[in-house]
Amino acid sequence: MKPMTEAIIRSSLINAGDDIAAQMTMPGLHEIMWESRDFLGWRDARAPQRAYLCYWREPPGATRVRADATSGEATPVTLMLRVPNGRPRADRLAICALCGTQQPAQQVRLFTAPKSGPAGEAGSTVGTYLCDDFSCSLTIRATPAHELQADLGSHIQRRIERLRARLDGFAGYVISSE
Ligand SMILES: [Zn+2]
Repeated sequence: MKPMTEAIIRSSLINAGDDIAAQMTMPGLHEIMWESRDFLGWRDARAPQRAYLCYWREPPGATRVRADATSGEATPVTLMLRVPNGRPRADRLAICALCGTQQPAQQVRLFTAPKSGPAGEAGSTVGTYLCDDFSCSLTIRATPAHELQADLGSHIQRRIERLRARLDGFAGYVISSE
């Protein structure tokens, strides 16, 4: 993804108030390997019940030249997520809604995002299972042992496209007024 600055992230927070946007604790943005990411997710180091996810959202119907490039019309979107309380049951498996990876339940948590606008102010939220460490982009780019080397590039490309479509779907629910 195209790098984001602290100013872009704070100003693109769509589902929380200005107070949260001002308070958000940033990750080490200069250490991020942006080119191998589709989004950036992190926990708020000073507010452990909050996490954030930012990415470049394409307008509907936009076609990308490459899955790791943006069309140039993309807008930054940052979502606030609430981190679940308590520990998940250790004997379960759960699937991340972004990367589609099945993991032990401690590594995939149910995050909830307040909806943007009046729906969110009225308490409406959207829940989704996500990898607890937000490493989905790295997971889908890892080489699966059973894949043929020749097809690996297109295989990963398809995974990236699927992840981005799911991310757009999730952000769409948060933004939607319904
Ligand atoms: Zn994931």
